[in-house]
Amino acid sequence: MSEFSQSPRLNRRDFAVAACAAATAIAWPRIAFSSPASAMPTADEALKRLLAGNARFVTGKTMHPDQAPGYRNGLAKAQHPFAIVLSCSDSRVPPEIAFDQGLGDVFTIRIAGAVYDDPGLGSMEYAVEHFHSPLLVVMGHENCGAVIATIDAVDKPGGEAPGHIGSLVSRIKPAAESTKGKTGNRVDNAVRQCIKNTVDALKTEKIMADAIAAGKLRIVGARYSLTAGSVSVIA
Ligand SMILES: [Zn+2]
Repeated sequence: MSEFSQSPRLNRRDFAVAACAAATAIAWPRIAFSSPASAMPTADEALKRLLAGNARFVTGKTMHPDQAPGYRNGLAKAQHPFAIVLSCSDSRVPPEIAFDQGLGDVFTIRIAGAVYDDPGLGSMEYAVEHFHSPLLVVMGHENCGAVIATIDAVDKPGGEAPGHIGSLVSRIKPAAESTKGKTGNRVDNAVRQCIKNTVDALKTEKIMADAIAAGKLRIVGARYSLTAGSVSVIA
């Protein structure tokens, strides 16, 4: 039986795990597509919902919620994403899959290295202002190619990244430079530092800062493990 099978035959233990996952899922109030913003979960509830979905993904007990044709059709009228996720463009790090969420659940911005530019920031600000999403997750990941490329640029100065790739390098560079010579894994240290730098920078952007001060937004940093599929909150 493939772990990716849609309808696995469950043994007793699997059934118990699946039933637990199902109970976790239905314990969350579903945000109907016509619900007002006041029906949003709190930031803590939103984070728990994402991490519960990630736990399903890690154990292969995914539910693929909010993807049925009827739900999709009704969602066309409006969206109320309960979380914003800024993640790397890496093909192995799709937030909706890693968090086992569906249509209308997560407002996603993806830029290599999980850094942001002006249009990316504008997208996140739009979600905060218009959808009142209570949680913003900055999700970097293990073995990030954009971070590795930046470390190479820092360690071997002189080479210029072609085209607009240099704009990524310049944003990741402070993390690569500040972790140079530190103990531990060079790439992972820089990945974690880059996530923290991005969280700190976002907190200073006016719309974000105002929403945080009003208790309407929480920004957290997270690291995705390519090997385990798990997401850990690190900032
Ligand atoms: Zn990456």
